[in-house]
Amino acid sequence: MTRTGARSYGNRVLTTVQAARYSVRGTSLGGVYTALHVPELDALFDCGLPLRSAASVTNLFLSHGHVDHAGALPALLGIRGLHGVRKNLRVFLPSTLAPVIAEALAVISRLHRWPLTVDLVPMEPGDEVPLRNDLVVRAFRTYHPVPSLGYLFVNRVKKLRPEFASLPGPEIARLRRTGADIFFEDPRFELAYATDTLPLVLEREPALFDTRVLILECTFLDGRKSVADARAGCHIHLDELLPFAHRFNNEALVLMHFSQLYTPADVRRLLAERCPPDLRRILRPHVPETENWPG
Ligand SMILES: [Zn+2]
Ligand SMILES: [Zn+2]
Repeated sequence: MTRTGARSYGNRVLTTVQAARYSVRGTSLGGVYTALHVPELDALFDCGLPLRSAASVTNLFLSHGHVDHAGALPALLGIRGLHGVRKNLRVFLPSTLAPVIAEALAVISRLHRWPLTVDLVPMEPGDEVPLRNDLVVRAFRTYHPVPSLGYLFVNRVKKLRPEFASLPGPEIARLRRTGADIFFEDPRFELAYATDTLPLVLEREPALFDTRVLILECTFLDGRKSVADARAGCHIHLDELLPFAHRFNNEALVLMHFSQLYTPADVRRLLAERCPPDLRRILRPHVPETENWPG
């Protein structure tokens, strides 16, 4: 590869959706591929397609092992090698998948004749892992026929207790040095990712309604698939999302993982027709501007 120091990624494969302070860049089509990069969090959600522009990301969060979400991991690691990224990719995943992914990468490494290595971070629902001083990721349960997880990013901002607010700066600094308990934690739900799940996840994880940005699957949108069909595959149908419409307090709701029963234009039209105005205001469907889905 030539090292020009700049790579161009503008193309028709990836879609970027601006959701509050986060950009959600990638592509998602139910059963085909889902890979979404949020650079502000240095996070990639699923790897159903190897995103060249996200190859140097630090953290990958795998929702589950279906190949439209996990199948392109070896290709992504290949691109990392090509780009000279030395640090191992950290892969957060449902704990039972960890040995399976390790085994799969060992086999593909033999095929590739080059070690494809990652740092696995097995997660159980409720587990929290610090990502930065002020940021943790928390895994939560999703509802799919195979082991699966969603991920919630919590910003743990420390704030001065109100009773100390009027003190001069040097006095606050002095108290801080003594270890006095002058701060309290003000957790802020920043972003959550939930895909390949029954809508039950919304009842079980009410934090999803209050997270600044919620990235959520909505595989089916109209009568071309019934609610019963959606439930059978453990997916969300818009019919089952609409009763929750008044509860979404998010700044942005990114719907994705639409079925290829719909064209990108169908998705926009159906969401515009079927969602009430308050929901439409925060809705950011992850669909390309193109006539067809990429690929
Ligand atoms: Zn899927
Ligand atoms: Zn799945």
